[in-house]
Amino acid sequence: MSVGAVILAGGKGTRSANPQLPKIAQIVGPKSLLEWHLDALRATQIRDLVIVSGHLGDQVAELVHSVTSMASYRDFHISVLEEADPQGTVAALRLGASSFPEPVERILVMLGDVLVAMPIEQFLLNWQESSKGVGVVAHPNTHPFDSDSVFVNAIGREVTLPKGSDKRRVPNSASAGLFLITRASLSHYPQARDLGSNLLVEAAEHNDLYIFTDSHYLKDTGTPERLEATNRDFENGVIDRKGSLGLRSALFLDRDGVINSVQPEVYQADDYKVLPGVAGEIKKANERGIPVFVVTNQPGIAKGLMSFEEHFEIRSELDAQLGFEQAFIDEYYFCPHHPDSGFEGERIALKIECECRKPNAALANLISRQHGIELPKSVMLGDTARDQGFARNAGMGFIHVSSSCDLESAHVCELDSVQAIRRAVEELTC
Ligand SMILES: [Mg+2]
Ligand SMILES: [Zn+2]
Repeated sequence: MSVGAVILAGGKGTRSANPQLPKIAQIVGPKSLLEWHLDALRATQIRDLVIVSGHLGDQVAELVHSVTSMASYRDFHISVLEEADPQGTVAALRLGASSFPEPVERILVMLGDVLVAMPIEQFLLNWQESSKGVGVVAHPNTHPFDSDSVFVNAIGREVTLPKGSDKRRVPNSASAGLFLITRASLSHYPQARDLGSNLLVEAAEHNDLYIFTDSHYLKDTGTPERLEATNRDFENGVIDRKGSLGLRSALFLDRDGVINSVQPEVYQADDYKVLPGVAGEIKKANERGIPVFVVTNQPGIAKGLMSFEEHFEIRSELDAQLGFEQAFIDEYYFCPHHPDSGFEGERIALKIECECRKPNAALANLISRQHGIELPKSVMLGDTARDQGFARNAGMGFIHVSSSCDLESAHVCELDSVQAIRRAVEELTC
């Protein structure tokens, strides 16, 4: 099975930092975006690339020539195509896909101006396992309301909501600008013009879209402000920390009693409120490149007090309230189970002794595997003994959020979650 990469590097450079320079030649830290792309591909089997360029094609060809004559990039085979009359990203992709010296079965699609520092091989393997024709990397970002949203809904179906759709109560999960597609699928969607606004939507409608949620570093550098921000991230070590392919340390948050106040068992998204100051502290963790995960027990679902849809609404409302302050959770995990049965209206199938209910460590181990997290160097924040047990079972650090500090065994305690998150972020970045 062969895989090639197509880099879409067309479009006019007018919005970019230096319009005279092709986007893929823009510099972040010590190297061009093209070199960042190749470094991200180094950990994969992909060595054949086609760059589809429009504007400034000669300069792209020159850049490719100078980069591939460096010893460290000599094993990459890159051809450059100039698209005379751009007809949208899907047409550019089709052109690129048909231009490999040897036909490829699967194609990784990169956008020329998106800096990618993530485990692409994992995306590729998981996508192949899904047997879907199209794959997309999703991640939360600081501007969820004007992004192409891609997410799995409360009943497990892939959903896409392009820019401009109604974004109320939608989880913060945006297309990150990295895609996989089989060569056969390229002909399945003949009407699609744009990858984000047409092809992903059609693939989702045909149950043919796989969504890979990633917590590493992917950033659109296509405007002067974004390029500058990406350079700042490089200087501050954020790309190194968040984009590392090695194990990373992370911040784990309980939900009820930490992000929001302790709730009655039955409540609605309309009543949901993030505690004052919490979004600001989570934003600081985001800005320092620390992955942030929520792990929450939601036994109300098993007890029949709340549906999966209602729970999903609350999670989306949480994302929206953080999103208003440019803060985000990298991924949200919950246990819907509860062990004791015999209550009226309960869901029998969820009334089980599961592995995922805290203090069991299954969700921590899952996050560690899915996101490459080093649990012994990570910190859990929670308001109950269950959270403390979860941290202990997973081998993580623990900070108790409590005004009364009423746990039996010795532990670190902070009065409120704002102080606790601040302390954890310091510990995780020192
Ligand atoms: Mg709690
Ligand atoms: Zn469970």
